[in-house]
Amino acid sequence: MSSNRLGVVLVIWMLCARVPGAFADGRATDGYLDDSRARWEHVARQIWDTPELGLHESRSAAALIEVLEKEGFQVTRGVGSEPTAFVAIAGAGAPVVGLLAEYDALPGLSQAAGQTKRQVVAEGAAGHGCGHNLLGTASVAAAIAANRERLARKLPGTIQLFGTPAEEIGFGKTFMIRDGAFKRTDVVLAWHPDDENRVTNRTRLAATAVNVEFFGRAAHAAASPWLGRSALDALVLFDHAVALMREHIKPTARIHRVVRDGGSAPNIIADHAAGEYWVRDISGENVNEMLERMKKAADGAGLATETRAKVTLIFSLREPIPNDALNAVLQRELERVGPPRFDDGDLRFARAMQKELGFEESGLATTIMPFTRANGGTASSDIGEVSAAVPLAELNLATRPLGTAAHHWAQTACAAHPLGYKGMAVAAKVLAASAIDVMTDPALAKAARDELVAQTKGKPYVSPLAPGAKPVAPR
Ligand SMILES: [Zn+2]
Repeated sequence: MSSNRLGVVLVIWMLCARVPGAFADGRATDGYLDDSRARWEHVARQIWDTPELGLHESRSAAALIEVLEKEGFQVTRGVGSEPTAFVAIAGAGAPVVGLLAEYDALPGLSQAAGQTKRQVVAEGAAGHGCGHNLLGTASVAAAIAANRERLARKLPGTIQLFGTPAEEIGFGKTFMIRDGAFKRTDVVLAWHPDDENRVTNRTRLAATAVNVEFFGRAAHAAASPWLGRSALDALVLFDHAVALMREHIKPTARIHRVVRDGGSAPNIIADHAAGEYWVRDISGENVNEMLERMKKAADGAGLATETRAKVTLIFSLREPIPNDALNAVLQRELERVGPPRFDDGDLRFARAMQKELGFEESGLATTIMPFTRANGGTASSDIGEVSAAVPLAELNLATRPLGTAAHHWAQTACAAHPLGYKGMAVAAKVLAASAIDVMTDPALAKAARDELVAQTKGKPYVSPLAPGAKPVAPR
């Protein structure tokens, strides 16, 4: 560090030390978020009411953009060739603090708000079974609270709110990174709804999804089956090979799939069959090793059935790179703000839901987990990609009963219930205060960057996307 720079740091430190409440309890951002609480619950409910799947989230993105523009943020839409992606910016210069908003729903998880039993709003419709209505709203609220604080204290720096679509289908952020959306960003702060309150510093899994297709020859299945070669047979054989492979993979790995095409009618030998396979493990290296074995299985199934196999990459996400410099900021602010303050009504609701699901009636998370090396889960997220490009930290807040999982109607029910809103409110406070911490202590962004450089051995981020790849919305 040059002596000039050191001088600037010292002056900023002295200024911060004299600003009342800068690092003390009862932050101004908390006060603003308490006062505007009804506004955020309204936005979260608005997004919950119109659940939209990845790359179709036009109303959800518009609801968030509307509040950001009202607060003076400059919004760029359609980032990363994704119509529902956006970046909202306020302020100027360094440090540049990014916050991530997701707002996509999941197919088939429609569920009435605040009901402890399965009760769909619309049969087969999408629902916020991962709580992304809360996720997006809290991050936007945090960006606005931090920006108000930035203006009030005339702090240098920029706040970026990234509207990141299509997390559930695995790639929204990857296209945004490839197209340079995060180029100026110094640090990224994120959160996700959960059943616990903690900083997530490890163990999201690396994941790759592939489309496995077989091409055979159609024929009448009764009149001339000897003329046909069944692509469905090949897919069944391949799937069996993968099932056998599961005995010989690491205990940390996961392989799951759906059949996308199994032919059109039983009396027509299928000339095309397709399955979507997701492979996950604690490292991208392990995932790649399994993929190579799956490709051999596909070729083998093709050989055995005289069909042709084709394996196409759908998306690839690396495991998140933890950043302890930023984790420490989130942990300190999480402990300062404290866990969501659930009341007796929330607790009764949680226990009734746990009873309905056959789980232990343990209620809700009322404490904050201590910072340890393995706080996290075994889901995957495109935030893994962001963490390899920009220093990133993430936290979880309880927005559903203990023991319940995301991607379930229980989370949909809680994502428009007071208990979900309470978790969302804490997330917004922690993110806003942490953003201000980074803006008032330039050493933090530098420490976070140094840590990322050390973790990645100085190698620049390389996109897993094929050149010219375009985001494709699910059917
Ligand atoms: Zn999610």
